Amino acid sequence: MSTIKDKIISFKNELPENVKLVAVSKTHPSEMIKEAYSAGQRIFGENKVQEMIAKHDELKNLDINWHLIGHLQRNKVKYIAEFVDLIHSVDSLKLLKEINKQAINNSRTINCLLQFHIASEDTKFGLNFEEAVEILQSEDYKKLTNVKIIGVMGMASFTEDEVKVRSEFTNLQEIYNNLKTNYFKDSNDFKEISMGMSNDWELAIESGSTMVRVGSTIFGYRSCSL
Ligand SMILES: *Cc1c(COP(=O)(O)O)cnc(C)c1O
Repeated sequence: MSTIKDKIISFKNELPENVKLVAVSKTHPSEMIKEAYSAGQRIFGENKVQEMIAKHDELKNLDINWHLIGHLQRNKVKYIAEFVDLIHSVDSLKLLKEINKQAINNSRTINCLLQFHIASEDTKFGLNFEEAVEILQSEDYKKLTNVKIIGVMGMASFTEDEVKVRSEFTNLQEIYNNLKTNYFKDSNDFKEISMGMSNDWELAIESGSTMVRVGSTIFGYRSCSL
């Protein structure tokens, strides 16, 4: 059986150069993060604030880039604002304003992605295109000084149907292109499309993904499905 280290190395070999790997370590212990780290992995994704804080504390001496990939409640932003590198799951102006406020409190700028609802399942969080436009056109948004939107994120439907998954990823790519043209033309930072997980990362890359979020392929199956 191959180790986590082997899996990181072989997975990275398969990724095109422009695609970053977010190693999704949720539910797995810090020891496994350390092993991935020793293989050169630096970006780790967690979907729960409490768990991310605990691991951040345990691994303080490692230069890890922590990405929050799960739904974020406004009242929890303050716990991660000091160290989080990228929040993938911004799905409201209220949340963005709170992130801005906590970023100011910590004298930093926090990078964010707008999360879009691209799957047909209604359990998944995220904005639709009109809601995103409403945020980007609002006066409140224009006043935010300490958040930077650097791209978009989405999760495809959980299905074997490749045609469906591909069309959902293409949809997110079109949303990205549209926002880039109309709202971020002059921003060199707006360049990320976070899509693709263990089951569908290859399809996501074909549709322009720049960041894949991969958990079980690297760390093994999780005992509970989250
Ligand atoms: C758990 C999770 C992943 C990784 O899922 P795997 O199928 O284990 O690769 C990616 N993105 C989000 C938002 C997740 O919650």
